[in-house]
Amino acid sequence: MLKVLVSGCLQGRALRYNATYVPVNSLIWDRWSAEGRLVRFCPEVAVGFPIPRPPAEIVGGTAGDVLAGSARVEEATGADVTNLFRLAARRALDRAVEAGVALAILVDGSPTCGSSVIYDGSFTGRTVPGRGVAAEELLRHGIPVFHEGQLAQAAAMLADLEKSERCTG
Ligand code: SF4
Repeated sequence: MLKVLVSGCLQGRALRYNATYVPVNSLIWDRWSAEGRLVRFCPEVAVGFPIPRPPAEIVGGTAGDVLAGSARVEEATGADVTNLFRLAARRALDRAVEAGVALAILVDGSPTCGSSVIYDGSFTGRTVPGRGVAAEELLRHGIPVFHEGQLAQAAAMLADLEKSERCTG
């Protein structure tokens, strides 16, 4: 059975910077949970960020630039947390590989987990198309990333992958 890496703050665990979680109302989620497919992981908490913590945004470039060392991740306090965010991304990849996940469902908008939008680095609430650092790291290593609004698309990909596994197995 193929596994799915999921943001640790999805459905029930208040791990976000503001000590909240992201609810998921989906039969797909419920089924995956009952099947034991979900591999929960919070990259930020895994590297020691507290709950709650100041909000953070990518500043001066993209998640790819953060990984390359040419953009930063800053907290609203101005603290530079780039290195911890890069480590968090690496930990997410390590967990995904260790668990052998087929894909990931990550919370959109996060500087770590975002996959279609992130905040623009101005701390004014504006979003821009972009990815978080862990999502970027996973994608670079061939792990498809979906956000919590794309469970149907993710389920379709998972079904295709399982079908092709059965055909070759
Ligand atoms: S890093 Fe990801 S899993 Fe952790 S709280 Fe933020 S969005 Fe959720």
